[in-house]
Amino acid sequence: MKSRLSLNKQILIGCLAGVAAGVVLAGLEPGDPVGQGTLYGAKLVGTLFLDLLRMVLIPLVFSSIVVGVANLRAHEQMHRVWTLTLGFFLLSMALAIVLGFTAAEVFRPGEGMQLALFAEATRDYQARQMPLADYVAQFLHGLFQNPIKALAQGDILAVVVIALVLGVAMVVGGERYKNLRGFVEEVQELCLLVVGWIMRLAPFGIAALLLQLVATQKLDLLQSLVHFIAVIIGSTVVHGAVVLPLLLYLVTGMSPLRFWRGSREALITAFATSSSAATLPVTLRCTEQHLHVKKDIANFVVPLGATVNMDGTALYEAAAALFVARLAGIELDLAHQLVIFFVAMLGAVGAPGIPSVGMLSMVLVLQSVGLPTEAIAILLPIDRILDTVRTAVNVEGDMVGSLIVQKLVNKPGSIRSTDS
Ligand code: ASP
Repeated sequence: MKSRLSLNKQILIGCLAGVAAGVVLAGLEPGDPVGQGTLYGAKLVGTLFLDLLRMVLIPLVFSSIVVGVANLRAHEQMHRVWTLTLGFFLLSMALAIVLGFTAAEVFRPGEGMQLALFAEATRDYQARQMPLADYVAQFLHGLFQNPIKALAQGDILAVVVIALVLGVAMVVGGERYKNLRGFVEEVQELCLLVVGWIMRLAPFGIAALLLQLVATQKLDLLQSLVHFIAVIIGSTVVHGAVVLPLLLYLVTGMSPLRFWRGSREALITAFATSSSAATLPVTLRCTEQHLHVKKDIANFVVPLGATVNMDGTALYEAAAALFVARLAGIELDLAHQLVIFFVAMLGAVGAPGIPSVGMLSMVLVLQSVGLPTEAIAILLPIDRILDTVRTAVNVEGDMVGSLIVQKLVNKPGSIRSTDS
Protein backbone atom coordinates (compact mmCIF):
# COMPACT_ATOMS: atom_id res chain seq x y z
CA MET A 1 0.00 0.00 0.00
CA LYS A 2 2.77 2.36 1.00
CA SER A 3 4.50 2.33 -2.33
CA ARG A 4 1.26 2.73 -4.34
CA LEU A 5 -0.52 5.56 -2.55
CA SER A 6 0.94 9.05 -2.62
CA LEU A 7 1.83 10.63 0.70
CA ASN A 8 -1.01 13.11 0.31
CA LYS A 9 -3.56 10.34 -0.08
CA GLN A 10 -2.11 8.49 2.90
CA ILE A 11 -2.39 11.65 5.00
CA LEU A 12 -5.99 12.15 3.93
CA ILE A 13 -6.83 8.54 4.80
CA GLY A 14 -5.06 8.96 8.15
CA CYS A 15 -7.13 12.05 8.81
CA LEU A 16 -10.45 10.29 8.10
CA ALA A 17 -9.45 7.14 9.98
CA GLY A 18 -8.42 9.18 13.03
CA VAL A 19 -11.72 11.06 13.16
CA ALA A 20 -13.75 7.86 12.60
CA ALA A 21 -11.87 5.95 15.31
CA GLY A 22 -12.27 8.95 17.65
CA VAL A 23 -16.05 8.90 17.15
CA VAL A 24 -16.18 5.16 17.88
CA LEU A 25 -14.04 5.62 20.98
CA ALA A 26 -16.16 8.51 22.25
CA GLY A 27 -19.16 6.17 22.16
CA LEU A 28 -17.51 3.57 24.41
CA GLU A 29 -18.08 3.40 28.17
CA PRO A 30 -15.57 5.47 30.15
CA GLY A 31 -12.86 3.12 31.41
CA ASP A 32 -13.39 0.57 28.63
CA PRO A 33 -10.04 -1.27 28.40
CA VAL A 34 -10.00 -1.28 24.58
CA GLY A 35 -10.71 2.44 24.52
CA GLN A 36 -8.06 3.18 27.15
CA GLY A 37 -5.47 1.08 25.33
CA THR A 38 -6.23 2.72 21.98
CA LEU A 39 -6.03 6.20 23.50
CA TYR A 40 -2.72 5.33 25.11
CA GLY A 41 -1.35 4.05 21.78
CA ALA A 42 -2.62 7.17 20.00
CA LYS A 43 -0.95 9.37 22.58
CA LEU A 44 2.38 7.62 22.05
CA VAL A 45 2.24 7.88 18.26
CA GLY A 46 0.92 11.48 18.25
CA THR A 47 3.58 12.64 20.70
CA LEU A 48 6.31 10.86 18.75
CA PHE A 49 5.26 12.65 15.55
CA LEU A 50 5.21 16.04 17.30
CA ASP A 51 8.56 15.39 18.98
CA LEU A 52 10.15 14.48 15.66
CA LEU A 53 8.90 17.72 14.10
CA ARG A 54 10.13 19.70 17.08
CA MET A 55 13.50 17.95 16.83
CA VAL A 56 14.24 19.60 13.47
CA LEU A 57 12.35 22.81 14.19
CA ILE A 58 15.04 24.99 15.75
CA PRO A 59 17.94 24.12 13.41
CA LEU A 60 15.57 24.43 10.47
CA VAL A 61 14.13 27.83 11.46
CA PHE A 62 17.57 29.17 12.26
CA SER A 63 19.26 27.98 9.08
CA SER A 64 16.28 28.89 6.85
CA ILE A 65 16.18 32.49 7.98
CA VAL A 66 19.94 32.99 7.89
CA VAL A 67 20.09 31.54 4.38
CA GLY A 68 16.95 33.42 3.32
CA VAL A 69 18.23 36.81 4.43
CA ALA A 70 21.79 36.19 3.31
CA ASN A 71 20.56 35.31 -0.14
CA LEU A 72 18.59 38.50 -0.48
CA ARG A 73 21.96 40.02 -1.14
CA ALA A 74 21.04 43.23 -2.88
CA HIS A 75 20.10 45.67 -0.14
CA GLU A 76 17.28 47.21 -1.99
CA GLN A 77 15.66 43.90 -2.74
CA MET A 78 15.96 42.99 0.89
CA HIS A 79 14.20 46.16 1.88
CA ARG A 80 11.46 45.40 -0.61
CA VAL A 81 10.93 41.86 0.65
CA TRP A 82 10.74 43.14 4.23
CA THR A 83 8.20 45.82 3.39
CA LEU A 84 6.05 43.53 1.28
CA THR A 85 6.11 40.76 3.86
CA LEU A 86 5.14 42.93 6.81
CA GLY A 87 2.61 44.78 4.66
CA PHE A 88 0.96 41.51 3.67
CA PHE A 89 0.92 40.20 7.26
CA LEU A 90 -0.76 43.35 8.54
CA LEU A 91 -3.26 43.49 5.69
CA SER A 92 -4.33 39.87 5.97
CA MET A 93 -4.69 40.04 9.75
CA ALA A 94 -6.68 43.25 9.47
CA LEU A 95 -9.03 41.60 6.96
CA ALA A 96 -9.39 38.62 9.30
CA ILE A 97 -10.31 40.85 12.23
CA VAL A 98 -12.88 42.75 10.18
CA LEU A 99 -14.36 39.42 9.09
CA GLY A 100 -14.49 38.26 12.73
CA PHE A 101 -16.29 41.44 13.77
CA THR A 102 -18.73 41.19 10.88
CA ALA A 103 -19.57 37.55 11.58
CA ALA A 104 -20.11 38.30 15.27
CA GLU A 105 -22.36 41.26 14.40
CA VAL A 106 -24.40 39.46 11.76
CA PHE A 107 -24.87 36.10 13.48
CA ARG A 108 -24.81 37.47 17.02
CA PRO A 109 -23.58 34.42 18.95
CA GLY A 110 -24.29 34.79 22.66
CA GLU A 111 -27.52 36.69 22.16
CA GLY A 112 -30.14 35.59 24.64
CA MET A 113 -27.47 33.98 26.82
CA GLN A 114 -25.97 35.44 29.95
CA LEU A 115 -22.71 35.04 31.72
CA ALA A 116 -24.71 33.88 34.77
CA LEU A 117 -25.59 30.72 32.80
CA PHE A 118 -21.98 29.71 33.12
CA ALA A 119 -21.66 30.63 36.80
CA GLU A 120 -20.53 27.12 37.61
CA ALA A 121 -17.68 27.22 35.11
CA THR A 122 -16.49 30.72 35.87
CA ARG A 123 -16.89 30.76 39.68
CA ASP A 124 -13.49 29.45 40.67
CA TYR A 125 -11.65 30.59 37.61
CA GLN A 126 -8.96 33.18 37.94
CA ALA A 127 -7.70 34.28 34.55
CA ARG A 128 -4.03 35.20 34.52
CA GLN A 129 -4.13 38.95 34.27
CA MET A 130 -1.47 40.94 32.54
CA PRO A 131 -1.81 44.65 31.81
CA LEU A 132 -1.17 45.69 28.22
CA ALA A 133 1.95 47.65 29.20
CA ASP A 134 3.46 44.55 30.85
CA TYR A 135 2.58 42.43 27.84
CA VAL A 136 4.36 44.83 25.47
CA ALA A 137 7.37 45.01 27.80
CA GLN A 138 7.53 41.23 28.06
CA PHE A 139 7.18 40.85 24.29
CA LEU A 140 10.04 43.27 23.61
CA HIS A 141 12.20 41.68 26.28
CA GLY A 142 11.64 38.25 24.70
CA LEU A 143 12.94 39.41 21.31
CA PHE A 144 16.61 39.73 22.17
CA GLN A 145 18.11 36.81 24.02
CA ASN A 146 21.39 35.05 24.47
CA PRO A 147 21.59 32.95 21.25
CA ILE A 148 22.78 29.80 23.00
CA LYS A 149 19.99 30.01 25.55
CA ALA A 150 17.34 30.75 22.93
CA LEU A 151 18.47 27.87 20.70
CA ALA A 152 18.72 25.44 23.62
CA GLN A 153 15.35 26.39 25.06
CA GLY A 154 13.63 26.43 21.69
CA ASP A 155 12.52 30.03 22.16
CA ILE A 156 11.33 30.48 18.62
CA LEU A 157 10.71 34.23 18.53
CA ALA A 158 14.20 34.94 19.85
CA VAL A 159 15.70 32.42 17.40
CA VAL A 160 13.95 34.22 14.52
CA VAL A 161 15.41 37.54 15.64
CA ILE A 162 18.94 36.14 16.10
CA ALA A 163 18.80 34.51 12.66
CA LEU A 164 17.59 37.76 11.08
CA VAL A 165 20.47 39.70 12.65
CA LEU A 166 23.02 37.09 11.62
CA GLY A 167 21.62 36.98 8.09
CA VAL A 168 21.85 40.76 7.76
CA ALA A 169 25.40 40.65 9.14
CA MET A 170 26.33 38.09 6.48
CA VAL A 171 24.91 40.32 3.77
CA VAL A 172 26.86 43.29 5.06
CA GLY A 173 30.02 41.20 5.52
CA GLY A 174 29.76 39.96 1.94
CA GLU A 175 32.00 37.35 0.32
CA ARG A 176 34.21 37.03 3.39
CA TYR A 177 31.59 34.84 5.01
CA LYS A 178 30.77 32.62 2.07
CA ASN A 179 32.03 29.48 3.85
CA LEU A 180 29.80 30.05 6.81
CA ARG A 181 26.90 30.75 4.50
CA GLY A 182 27.58 27.52 2.62
CA PHE A 183 27.65 25.62 5.91
CA VAL A 184 24.33 27.01 7.11
CA GLU A 185 22.85 26.28 3.68
CA GLU A 186 23.89 22.65 4.00
CA VAL A 187 22.41 22.44 7.49
CA GLN A 188 19.11 23.63 6.07
CA GLU A 189 19.17 21.12 3.23
CA LEU A 190 19.87 18.32 5.67
CA CYS A 191 17.00 19.42 7.93
CA LEU A 192 14.60 19.33 4.97
CA LEU A 193 15.84 15.87 4.07
CA VAL A 194 15.05 14.70 7.60
CA VAL A 195 11.61 16.35 7.39
CA GLY A 196 10.97 14.22 4.31
CA TRP A 197 11.59 11.11 6.42
CA ILE A 198 9.45 12.34 9.29
CA MET A 199 6.60 12.96 6.88
CA ARG A 200 6.40 9.22 6.19
CA LEU A 201 5.06 8.92 9.70
CA ALA A 202 2.62 11.81 9.15
CA PRO A 203 -0.43 9.68 8.20
CA PHE A 204 -0.12 7.78 11.50
CA GLY A 205 0.79 10.83 13.57
CA ILE A 206 -2.12 12.83 12.19
CA ALA A 207 -4.56 9.93 12.68
CA ALA A 208 -3.40 9.56 16.29
CA LEU A 209 -3.70 13.27 17.08
CA LEU A 210 -7.18 13.55 15.57
CA LEU A 211 -8.34 10.38 17.31
CA GLN A 212 -7.35 11.88 20.67
CA LEU A 213 -8.99 15.18 19.84
CA VAL A 214 -12.34 13.68 18.85
CA ALA A 215 -12.43 11.04 21.60
CA THR A 216 -11.80 13.47 24.44
CA GLN A 217 -14.27 16.28 23.65
CA LYS A 218 -16.85 17.21 26.28
CA LEU A 219 -20.07 17.05 24.32
CA ASP A 220 -22.41 18.92 26.69
CA LEU A 221 -20.37 22.13 26.58
CA LEU A 222 -19.98 21.86 22.82
CA GLN A 223 -23.74 21.65 22.52
CA SER A 224 -24.47 24.75 24.58
CA LEU A 225 -21.95 26.78 22.62
CA VAL A 226 -22.70 25.29 19.23
CA HIS A 227 -23.80 28.62 17.73
CA PHE A 228 -20.61 30.38 18.77
CA ILE A 229 -18.47 27.46 17.54
CA ALA A 230 -20.27 27.46 14.19
CA VAL A 231 -19.78 31.22 13.74
CA ILE A 232 -16.06 31.02 14.56
CA ILE A 233 -15.38 27.97 12.40
CA GLY A 234 -17.56 29.33 9.59
CA SER A 235 -15.87 32.72 9.45
CA THR A 236 -12.39 31.21 9.79
CA VAL A 237 -13.17 28.88 6.91
CA VAL A 238 -14.43 31.83 4.84
CA HIS A 239 -11.14 33.62 5.46
CA GLY A 240 -9.17 30.49 4.53
CA ALA A 241 -11.27 29.33 1.60
CA VAL A 242 -12.37 32.66 0.10
CA VAL A 243 -10.40 35.72 1.29
CA LEU A 244 -6.86 34.31 1.19
CA PRO A 245 -7.31 32.35 -2.08
CA LEU A 246 -8.88 35.44 -3.63
CA LEU A 247 -5.94 37.63 -2.63
CA LEU A 248 -3.63 34.95 -3.99
CA TYR A 249 -5.50 34.70 -7.25
CA LEU A 250 -5.72 38.45 -7.76
CA VAL A 251 -2.01 38.95 -7.23
CA THR A 252 -0.47 35.80 -8.68
CA GLY A 253 -3.19 34.20 -10.81
CA MET A 254 -2.74 30.89 -8.98
CA SER A 255 -5.96 28.89 -8.81
CA PRO A 256 -7.25 27.78 -5.39
CA LEU A 257 -7.08 24.16 -6.52
CA ARG A 258 -3.40 24.40 -7.41
CA PHE A 259 -2.72 26.10 -4.12
CA TRP A 260 -4.61 23.40 -2.20
CA ARG A 261 -2.67 20.64 -3.96
CA GLY A 262 0.64 22.23 -3.02
CA SER A 263 -0.29 23.19 0.51
CA ARG A 264 -2.49 20.38 1.84
CA GLU A 265 0.25 18.48 3.68
CA ALA A 266 0.94 21.56 5.76
CA LEU A 267 -2.72 22.51 6.24
CA ILE A 268 -3.67 19.05 7.48
CA THR A 269 -0.63 18.88 9.76
CA ALA A 270 -1.53 22.29 11.21
CA PHE A 271 -5.14 21.16 11.72
CA ALA A 272 -4.04 18.03 13.58
CA THR A 273 -1.22 19.53 15.66
CA SER A 274 -2.80 22.95 16.39
CA SER A 275 0.69 24.39 16.30
CA SER A 276 2.09 26.60 13.55
CA ALA A 277 5.54 26.16 15.06
CA ALA A 278 5.44 22.35 15.02
CA THR A 279 4.04 22.50 11.47
CA LEU A 280 6.78 24.84 10.27
CA PRO A 281 9.08 22.13 8.88
CA VAL A 282 6.16 20.84 6.79
CA THR A 283 5.12 24.36 5.76
CA LEU A 284 8.61 25.11 4.49
CA ARG A 285 8.75 21.85 2.59
CA CYS A 286 5.38 22.55 0.91
CA THR A 287 6.24 26.16 0.10
CA GLU A 288 9.58 25.31 -1.48
CA GLN A 289 8.97 21.91 -3.00
CA HIS A 290 5.28 21.90 -3.95
CA LEU A 291 4.42 25.58 -4.40
CA HIS A 292 7.83 26.35 -5.89
CA VAL A 293 8.51 29.55 -4.01
CA LYS A 294 12.16 30.49 -4.36
CA LYS A 295 14.28 29.52 -1.40
CA ASP A 296 15.31 33.02 -0.41
CA ILE A 297 11.71 34.25 -0.21
CA ALA A 298 10.24 31.12 1.41
CA ASN A 299 13.03 30.91 3.96
CA PHE A 300 12.36 34.44 5.03
CA VAL A 301 8.57 34.76 4.86
CA VAL A 302 7.45 31.37 6.19
CA PRO A 303 9.40 31.14 9.48
CA LEU A 304 8.72 34.79 10.23
CA GLY A 305 5.03 34.28 9.43
CA ALA A 306 4.80 31.24 11.69
CA THR A 307 5.55 33.45 14.66
CA VAL A 308 4.08 36.79 13.56
CA ASN A 309 1.29 36.26 11.04
CA MET A 310 -1.81 34.65 12.55
CA ASP A 311 -5.00 35.45 10.69
CA GLY A 312 -7.04 32.72 12.37
CA THR A 313 -5.99 33.82 15.84
CA ALA A 314 -6.70 37.48 15.13
CA LEU A 315 -10.14 36.67 13.73
CA TYR A 316 -10.96 34.48 16.71
CA GLU A 317 -9.93 37.06 19.28
CA ALA A 318 -12.02 39.79 17.70
CA ALA A 319 -15.15 37.63 17.34
CA ALA A 320 -14.79 36.04 20.77
CA ALA A 321 -14.49 39.46 22.43
CA LEU A 322 -17.83 40.50 20.94
CA PHE A 323 -19.32 37.18 22.06
CA VAL A 324 -18.16 37.71 25.65
CA ALA A 325 -19.44 41.29 25.60
CA ARG A 326 -22.84 40.01 24.59
CA LEU A 327 -22.80 37.38 27.35
CA ALA A 328 -21.91 40.05 29.86
CA GLY A 329 -24.61 42.37 28.49
CA ILE A 330 -22.09 45.06 27.56
CA GLU A 331 -22.52 47.09 24.36
CA LEU A 332 -19.20 47.86 22.74
CA ASP A 333 -18.98 51.13 20.84
CA LEU A 334 -16.71 51.91 17.91
CA ALA A 335 -13.86 53.10 20.11
CA HIS A 336 -13.93 49.82 22.01
CA GLN A 337 -13.96 47.89 18.76
CA LEU A 338 -10.92 49.82 17.57
CA VAL A 339 -9.07 48.96 20.78
CA ILE A 340 -10.00 45.30 20.26
CA PHE A 341 -8.77 45.55 16.67
CA PHE A 342 -5.30 46.68 17.71
CA VAL A 343 -4.97 44.46 20.76
CA ALA A 344 -6.15 41.40 18.82
CA MET A 345 -3.54 42.12 16.19
CA LEU A 346 -0.84 42.63 18.80
CA GLY A 347 -1.93 39.44 20.55
CA ALA A 348 -1.75 37.48 17.31
CA VAL A 349 1.70 38.89 16.50
CA GLY A 350 3.03 38.06 19.96
CA ALA A 351 1.51 34.56 20.15
CA PRO A 352 4.25 31.98 19.64
CA GLY A 353 2.48 29.39 17.43
CA ILE A 354 1.74 26.65 19.93
CA PRO A 355 -1.59 25.04 20.85
CA SER A 356 -4.16 27.28 22.55
CA VAL A 357 -1.75 30.13 23.03
CA GLY A 358 -4.39 32.43 21.58
CA MET A 359 -6.16 32.00 24.91
CA LEU A 360 -3.44 33.95 26.70
CA SER A 361 -3.73 36.96 24.47
CA MET A 362 -7.52 36.58 24.61
CA VAL A 363 -7.29 37.59 28.28
CA LEU A 364 -5.44 40.69 27.16
CA VAL A 365 -8.11 41.55 24.60
CA LEU A 366 -10.90 41.18 27.18
CA GLN A 367 -9.00 43.24 29.72
CA SER A 368 -8.27 46.01 27.26
CA VAL A 369 -11.94 46.94 27.03
CA GLY A 370 -12.94 45.96 30.55
CA LEU A 371 -14.73 42.71 29.71
CA PRO A 372 -14.86 40.00 32.41
CA THR A 373 -11.73 37.88 32.05
CA GLU A 374 -13.25 34.90 33.85
CA ALA A 375 -15.21 34.31 30.62
CA ILE A 376 -12.03 32.55 29.49
CA ALA A 377 -13.28 29.63 31.59
CA ILE A 378 -16.08 29.19 29.04
CA LEU A 379 -13.81 29.51 26.03
CA LEU A 380 -11.03 27.21 27.24
CA PRO A 381 -12.84 23.86 27.12
CA ILE A 382 -13.90 24.41 23.51
CA ASP A 383 -10.59 25.87 22.46
CA ARG A 384 -8.94 22.65 21.39
CA ILE A 385 -11.54 22.22 18.66
CA LEU A 386 -11.44 25.84 17.46
CA ASP A 387 -7.64 25.84 17.50
CA THR A 388 -7.54 23.23 14.71
CA VAL A 389 -9.11 25.44 12.02
CA ARG A 390 -7.51 28.62 13.31
CA THR A 391 -4.02 27.12 13.15
CA ALA A 392 -4.60 25.76 9.63
CA VAL A 393 -5.58 29.27 8.49
CA ASN A 394 -2.58 30.78 10.32
CA VAL A 395 -0.32 28.46 8.35
CA GLU A 396 -2.19 29.06 5.10
CA GLY A 397 -1.58 32.81 5.49
CA ASP A 398 2.18 32.21 5.61
CA MET A 399 2.18 30.16 2.41
CA VAL A 400 -0.09 32.62 0.59
CA GLY A 401 2.15 35.45 1.84
CA SER A 402 5.29 33.89 0.42
CA LEU A 403 3.66 33.37 -2.99
CA ILE A 404 2.39 36.96 -3.06
CA VAL A 405 5.70 38.44 -1.92
CA GLN A 406 7.56 36.39 -4.52
CA LYS A 407 5.27 37.70 -7.25
CA LEU A 408 5.42 41.35 -6.19
CA VAL A 409 9.15 41.37 -5.57
CA ASN A 410 9.77 40.28 -9.12
CA LYS A 411 7.47 42.91 -10.52
CA PRO A 412 9.37 46.21 -10.59
CA GLY A 413 7.16 49.19 -10.14
CA SER A 414 4.19 47.34 -8.63
CA ILE A 415 4.82 48.98 -5.30
CA ARG A 416 8.03 50.87 -5.71
CA SER A 417 10.67 50.14 -8.26
CA THR A 418 13.81 48.60 -6.80
CA ASP A 419 16.02 50.73 -8.94
CA SER A 420 14.34 54.00 -8.18
N1 ASP B 1 -2.42 27.38 17.89
C1 ASP B 1 -2.25 28.57 17.12
C2 ASP B 1 -1.03 28.41 16.22
O1 ASP B 1 -0.14 27.67 16.54
C3 ASP B 1 -2.10 29.79 17.95
C4 ASP B 1 -3.38 30.07 18.69
O2 ASP B 1 -3.61 29.48 19.76
O3 ASP B 1 -4.19 30.85 18.20
O4 ASP B 1 -0.97 29.02 15.19
